[in-house]
Amino acid sequence: MKKSGSKRKKSNKKGIKTIIFKGHKDMPPCAISFANTMYNKTGKWRSIKPVILKEKCTSCLLCWKFCPEACVSIKNKRPVIDYEYCKGCGICQEVCVKGAVLLEEEKK
Ligand code: SF4
Ligand code: SF4
Repeated sequence: MKKSGSKRKKSNKKGIKTIIFKGHKDMPPCAISFANTMYNKTGKWRSIKPVILKEKCTSCLLCWKFCPEACVSIKNKRPVIDYEYCKGCGICQEVCVKGAVLLEEEKK
């Protein structure tokens, strides 16, 4: 039987350390999902709302490519955010080199 309960640290060339867990028992407590993303409307998590500024957007679609929730779709060659699933992580703003994504405080 494989030994559980151990982890190892690894550094890359830039000295950035990564912790590699051997299994779920090694990991600290964290949120887990009991359903797939289709049923998890992660939009409820959002405290910050990304808004795409049409006048600045060049339709490069980097936001579509990098959104971890796959909630940016393409309509008429333009990105459209599905707010039922957008969790407000802000990655779309980070990757947008045109400054076309504004992060607003979510109004609940
Ligand atoms: S990354 Fe920015 S410029 Fe590119 S499609 Fe998305 S909002 Fe538009
Ligand atoms: S904030 Fe995060 S989840 Fe929402 S559209 Fe941008 S990248 Fe996707």
